[in-house]
Amino acid sequence: WLGAAFLLFCALAVYFSYRMAAKAMVPILASYEQQRKFTADASHELRTPLSVLLSSIDTLQMEDSVEQNPFAAKVVNNMKEEIRRMIQLSGSLLTLARSDSGHSELNLHEHRLEAEAARTMESIRPLAEAKDIQLHYEYDPHASFTICCDVERIRQLLIILLDNAVKYTPEGGQVALTLESIHEKPHGVLIKVRDTGIGIPTEDQPHVFDRFYRVDKSRTRQIEGYGLGLSIARWITEAHGGSIQVESVLGEGSTFTVRLPE
Ligand code: ADP
Repeated sequence: WLGAAFLLFCALAVYFSYRMAAKAMVPILASYEQQRKFTADASHELRTPLSVLLSSIDTLQMEDSVEQNPFAAKVVNNMKEEIRRMIQLSGSLLTLARSDSGHSELNLHEHRLEAEAARTMESIRPLAEAKDIQLHYEYDPHASFTICCDVERIRQLLIILLDNAVKYTPEGGQVALTLESIHEKPHGVLIKVRDTGIGIPTEDQPHVFDRFYRVDKSRTRQIEGYGLGLSIARWITEAHGGSIQVESVLGEGSTFTVRLPE
């Protein structure tokens, strides 16, 4: 009897603690959901007026009075750049808010990654050339890199990694994108983005995928960014059932490796 009473007591204790914890969680979850919805709505609502502003500035730039006045042309150009950055920021916030809610479904189809990667490399080329950075693209032409993925998201992931590699590599450096097949099970593809840039201190490496994390702000103050790119890269990778990691040596360069299942 004593044993049975003890068991009953334990069961009741567990049951009531669970109910109390669940009750306490309701407002926390509700406020989290409200916050997420606010971020998603705010970033969505911001995009329209910002896009309207951007196209108004495009029109203004074509005015003779602006074109012929170097000061006005510079101010208008700066305004345009800041608005472009705000549009990018609201886009990143929207992506992350949607990923939190689980509302961003992937549009999955079979795609040849090598073709997609080649296109993305070309889109990054003007940025690299402006800094005299050499781009390399390597993959085994006999291997298959066909995977089931959301191609828009994979393109976004490649752009984030390549854009960072170019951003954080000084003039005259090198950036390489490599595709490798994973032969052992589970099969898949390894995407590596390697650069000869400024590198990331060991203690910062575990945090670079956190939202708004930027390594040593004084070091990167002149380099534009909000610290959201890699958190989006991690979300895209994990949504595809993959993983992402970084290896880096300060002053020598970094390698970001994405592992995607077939
Ligand atoms: P950001 O917009 O600041 O580039 P990210 O989330 O893409 O944001 O990256 C987070 C931080 O990680 C960056 O601010 C930078 O300090 C560091 N980082 C990312 N990629 C590289 C790289 N290839 N080389 C050196 N540092 C990098």
